[in-house]
Amino acid sequence: MTLMPVARHREKVLGSVQPLPAGTVPLAAAHGLRLAADVRSRLSVPPWDNSAMDGYAVRYEDIAAAGQEPVTLDVVADLPAGSALDPPLQPGQAARIMTGAVLPSSADTVVQLEHTDRNEPHGELPGTVTVLKEQQPGGHVRYAGEDLQPGDLVATGGAVADATVLAALAATGHDAVWVHRRARVAVIATGSELQPPGAELARGQIPDSNSLLLSALVRQAGGEVSAAVTVGDDPDDLRRRLAEVTPEADMIVLTGGVSAGAYDPLTRVFADSADVSFSSVSMQPGKPQAFGRHRQAVLFGLPGNPVSAWVSFHVFVRPALIVMHGADPSTVVPNPVPARAVRGWRTPPVRDQYLPARIGIDADGQYTVEPAATKGSKSHLVASLGRANGYAIVPGDVDQVAGGDVVHVVIDEQGAL
Ligand code: AMP
Ligand code: MG
Repeated sequence: MTLMPVARHREKVLGSVQPLPAGTVPLAAAHGLRLAADVRSRLSVPPWDNSAMDGYAVRYEDIAAAGQEPVTLDVVADLPAGSALDPPLQPGQAARIMTGAVLPSSADTVVQLEHTDRNEPHGELPGTVTVLKEQQPGGHVRYAGEDLQPGDLVATGGAVADATVLAALAATGHDAVWVHRRARVAVIATGSELQPPGAELARGQIPDSNSLLLSALVRQAGGEVSAAVTVGDDPDDLRRRLAEVTPEADMIVLTGGVSAGAYDPLTRVFADSADVSFSSVSMQPGKPQAFGRHRQAVLFGLPGNPVSAWVSFHVFVRPALIVMHGADPSTVVPNPVPARAVRGWRTPPVRDQYLPARIGIDADGQYTVEPAATKGSKSHLVASLGRANGYAIVPGDVDQVAGGDVVHVVIDEQGAL
């Protein structure tokens, strides 16, 4: 079987997924989803002229001379943030005002507490206040609409409704937002050797790490895990499980049993299917890949080795998932950056290496990279995945990486350096 270049396999994947339908969702439920259209402000931000300081609201003309000598005003009102009062200040009068409170219509300037003889924000409302220093007209006033006007752009279509976007939407008068539906993803780990994490292991058994790995990766990408199940290598069991999880799913991610092993259930279940194809992709790990459709769902069959599954998710599944969430396909391909190898490592012949890596920054601000696995770079070293915050991509024609070489790395979306 000829090897399929990684980029070509990804193009095939991205060419067969579409954005899921969009709908209006309350802000709190939209977290991690993508906006289906630009969003504009419904409010002026801030909505009112208000104070940028704890202090006293004054008419500037009353205190214009404070630079020469202290000016004493009568304090006639108290304005905490949220107050609806609009006290009419007469000449010679001031209102105590807290940060964020609306400026009285009759005032034009705020004098900060520290420039008065009443330099404490708490306590009884004083009868008078003396301004001790020269002030600027309009000082410490935040004007309505200074940040945004109604109709101004708040966030662009395709943007992720993350913490800051959600806050901006709330601040601009929205309680709901038009987003692409969250993809429902069924995760099925295949392998008769698999046991739940923590279970006592009989000879030949291993803990199932892929169900948790892939479920977490799906959620990190904004998807919903509609099912996460394990199934043995009996093809009839797999057919039954598929029938159970498929009606709900927009995407099915299977691991294991995807190559030509005698008991590989995926190969056997889909051998005659026109909807699922099996490819040998020119990458290490991650060579055997199944991709296609099962009823309405997009189907991925990833190699069972957890490191292979992790790499395959980043390189193929996540890009497809975020296109289904409305991302522009030209933006979903991971973006490698150069990094200096801290130590050398071996690379496979012919195929591109996707090596789980520990990426850092040196004293000069350059990225550094070393294999996450301290004992080698074999794809079965799942325990060292926990050290990875990204992966290195070494082209197939590079035989060996030496310490000091520059290689390209992709930093995990969630990974801290
Ligand atoms: P397979 O792709 O089914 O041939 O599996 C390749 C290797 O990955 C084998 O050593 C399996 O035991 C291991 N493996 C398969 N599925 C899982 C899983 N869910 N969790 C941990 N290891 C797995
Ligand atoms: Mg297997």
